[in-house]
Amino acid sequence: MKRLLAGIPFAVFTLSAFLATRSDAKLETIEQVIPGVWFRQGDLDQYGHCNNIVIEMKDYLLVVDANYPSGARALMADIKTISSKPVKFVFDTHHHGDHAYGNPLWTQAGATTFAYRGVAEEMRRYEPARWRADAARRKDVAELNLDTAEPPRQTFDQSPYVIDDGSRRVEFYFFGWAHTRGDGFVYLPKEQVLCTGDAVTNGPFNGMGDGYVANWPKVVHRARQLKVKYVLPAHGPSGGTEILAGEEQFLTTIYGTVKKAIGQGKRLEDLVEMKDGQPVKAKLQLADAVQHWVGSFYPGQISDIYQEIAQAKPRGEITGGK
Ligand SMILES: [Zn+2]
Repeated sequence: MKRLLAGIPFAVFTLSAFLATRSDAKLETIEQVIPGVWFRQGDLDQYGHCNNIVIEMKDYLLVVDANYPSGARALMADIKTISSKPVKFVFDTHHHGDHAYGNPLWTQAGATTFAYRGVAEEMRRYEPARWRADAARRKDVAELNLDTAEPPRQTFDQSPYVIDDGSRRVEFYFFGWAHTRGDGFVYLPKEQVLCTGDAVTNGPFNGMGDGYVANWPKVVHRARQLKVKYVLPAHGPSGGTEILAGEEQFLTTIYGTVKKAIGQGKRLEDLVEMKDGQPVKAKLQLADAVQHWVGSFYPGQISDIYQEIAQAKPRGEITGGK
């Protein structure tokens, strides 16, 4: 009896330790959102992985984002634990490596990769340079022994593109140029689930280098016209419509703040501290309400918006051309 009692504090301790790590353990773990829809939050810091969504259809599974090759392999293993159905379609929300460089693995596994046509066009602009840069620093990309990224095997240009097999309706939307020129959203109208890619992230993950920042909040606003209950972003945890509202507010606020400063005659060096030509520290403060989206990208975002306004063209055109 004494032994048993002595064991209790230890048990309580291990339980709380378990709970404490469990919130972190949500990374790289597949979890059901609603019956037939799973969310897997990738570990961005450690592996560079994006989040994935798995949608169950009558005879097959549909995956949102190909991820990096290592993320694709991890997801394939997790899928075996939730369903025996094959993955038939993999939707690339955009062309970035952490969303599309796993494409060859899905193709080899018998799935069809597809995307809005803007994704394939972005790859033509930026590849093979980015694939080669990633192959030089990432083992999982190098191991594929390919010269460049594999574009989505199918594309659509009418939004929405719809897949409906009688058991479930899935709509694929392009609402305009936001994070990239290919940003695709995946929407389940009956279940009110919206997968946003990187056009909407739950936290400070808005890379603006390929973006059109003036247009981005309009894209988020269009997505908000859908009836939504579950928001499944490509980075950060899942949540509800507060993610969409907060993202729109952040983008409107940061763009408006930089634009106002330019109107007051401020130069880039007044807005952000530069070191070796790189923005390293922000000198602008945004409202508390949008701080959830402010992080390590913030100095770069100020610089990107500054360039977009100063050069009077979308930030992505400065790097990628028309
Ligand atoms: Zn991205």
